[in-house]
Amino acid sequence: MTAAPLIDVQGLCKRFGGVTALDNVDFSVEPGQISGLIGPNGAGKSTFFNVLIGVFPGNGGEIRFDGKRINHVRPHDRVVLGMVRTFQKIHPFHGMTVLESVMVGCHARGRAGLIAAMLRLPFVKREERGFREAAESALAFVGLTGQAQMLADVLPLGHQRLLQLACALVTQPRVLLLDEPASGLDASETARLADLLLAIRAQGKTLVVVEHDMSLVMKICDRITVLSFGKRLANGTPEQVRHDPKVIEAYLGGGEPRA
Ligand code: ADP
Ligand code: MG
Repeated sequence: MTAAPLIDVQGLCKRFGGVTALDNVDFSVEPGQISGLIGPNGAGKSTFFNVLIGVFPGNGGEIRFDGKRINHVRPHDRVVLGMVRTFQKIHPFHGMTVLESVMVGCHARGRAGLIAAMLRLPFVKREERGFREAAESALAFVGLTGQAQMLADVLPLGHQRLLQLACALVTQPRVLLLDEPASGLDASETARLADLLLAIRAQGKTLVVVEHDMSLVMKICDRITVLSFGKRLANGTPEQVRHDPKVIEAYLGGGEPRA
């Protein structure tokens, strides 16, 4: 028996002027699973994430999170519900340390408003201490404790990707949406990332991963959805998708799907 999906998208459409970036896309992920979203460049993967997280409205379709329709829920409120995404392009906070960058993420869930924070009310200080501990433990989890006091924007790319993950994890998401988390990583960094993502799943979290690195996707995903020209081309287990002639055709016109 399958569980009720945590994210359930039906018939999602998104147009940019004359370009149909998403054409009637269905997608779902069950709690505690890793779902992959793959497809050639320009297939609509990042757009799918952006509409899911509320960066832009869709032009049709239903988005449900934990059974609740969230089409009109604002992006910040989707974070509070437990949906957090990372970006394909990295935007480190200039002038902030690694630890401070992760603490910024904690504020997404904090109670203290800006005024209370400026007045440094006692409960704010308690909250800040809690934020610091949460940020330190997120950094330890991704293996960046030694870099905590470094400036975020001077980290090498591999560490920037881990920092992105720590920033997302510290908000205590129920579902993590990762856009090309292995982009720019070497083979050993990618293998370490795979272990981390499996460890996150083992904590009961749900993940949706857009990724070019096919070996990573095949290794960690429970289900894979393939997009091509904004349409859902295939959906199934890694084995089913790997051997699907439509998928092979879309990627290479023959051979196995690759980056
Ligand atoms: P992918 O992430 O799969 O490479 P994207 O979602 O970035 O694909 O893009 C899908 C299509 O939508 C492309 O044709 C792209 O040019 C277009 N697109 C994406 N974002 C925008 C935007 N903000 N404005 C206009 N067109 C966009
Ligand atoms: Mg993209």
